[in-house]
Amino acid sequence: MAYMNSNEIKEELNLKGIKNTKAKSILLHILKSSHAPKDVNTLYEACSKMTSVNLATVYRSLRQFNEKDIVQEFLGSDGVAQYEYIHQGAKSHPHFECETCHQVFCLGELKFEDALYFSNMAKQHKVNSINMTLRGVCDHCQENH
Ligand SMILES: [Zn+2]
Ligand SMILES: [Zn+2]
Repeated sequence: MAYMNSNEIKEELNLKGIKNTKAKSILLHILKSSHAPKDVNTLYEACSKMTSVNLATVYRSLRQFNEKDIVQEFLGSDGVAQYEYIHQGAKSHPHFECETCHQVFCLGELKFEDALYFSNMAKQHKVNSINMTLRGVCDHCQENH
């Protein structure tokens, strides 16, 4: 994977008040170019290919990214945390988690009416994001049965 737009990444970290390190900017780059949520080990492996980094640093950086709303974190049914970059202006989208291979897939973005429907369920509470996971067996795992 080519390491592109490093200036853009640096600026983004700066804007969020995060000290820019090589490991953090590479991690953010990987998260931004991922099309599905990734767990820590996968992110760590991808980072390791591009720079020398240890697992604790990846954990710490992800926690910081989550606090600053750069990534969203959610737990899979196996208890493993998954991380996904929050694209600016992107609407909430549900996920599908396969109970067999534990892969998580991004589903289509919620339509405005759908988002409104779920927001209304919260009644007087203020909704900032909607985190929904559908679970079952992915098409790949269905074929292998
Ligand atoms: Zn599967
Ligand atoms: Zn997603």
